[in-house]
Amino acid sequence: MNSTNYDACPECDLLLKPAQLKIGEKAHCPRCGLLLSRPRKQSIERTFALSITGFILFFPSVLLPMMGITVLGDANTGTLLSGVIALFNENMWPVAIVVFLASIMFPLVHISLSLLISGHLYFKRSNRYLVTWMRWMYHLDEWIMLEVYMLGIIVACVKLMAIAPLKFGWGLYAFIALIIITTLLTSNLDNRLFWQRIEQLRKENNNAS
Ligand SMILES: [Zn+2]
Repeated sequence: MNSTNYDACPECDLLLKPAQLKIGEKAHCPRCGLLLSRPRKQSIERTFALSITGFILFFPSVLLPMMGITVLGDANTGTLLSGVIALFNENMWPVAIVVFLASIMFPLVHISLSLLISGHLYFKRSNRYLVTWMRWMYHLDEWIMLEVYMLGIIVACVKLMAIAPLKFGWGLYAFIALIIITTLLTSNLDNRLFWQRIEQLRKENNNAS
């Protein structure tokens, strides 16, 4: 079999003739629907830069106060993490777990994976886990629901503003920036190019050893 003429779908292994796409076009696998190709300009460089930014923004968005509220002279501030802990203490632990996974754990793993993969590709360093990381990252994409929490936060803000003056903290700004970065990250990642480069690195590594 001539492997240069066909590509296997990374999800279902269906053999496909690679489509010659222009920037802005998309190709999906006809069997499983996996997004195969979405050419982007300088995808590796951009993904690498966005991953670093996202990784840096992640920590303030989880740890810094998102908003503060003063009730009867007592100032209270809330972070994303303290929100999860509060849910847990209220015995709403199934909700606490879902919020923790979808708003903290999965975005962190997703950004770390994309940083690892794009970093390896950027510096042309082979790693035997690259294929596994790519698959994990693809599946995690479906589990990140930052936008949903953003909506929840907006609704909570509107309701709280009616009772007491609200102060917005750096955590909220970092969270908004993180949502923008994550969206850009997903839209700049050229799956096909990444798989091609991984395969290339693997071959070079095999030849070298
Ligand atoms: Zn497929």
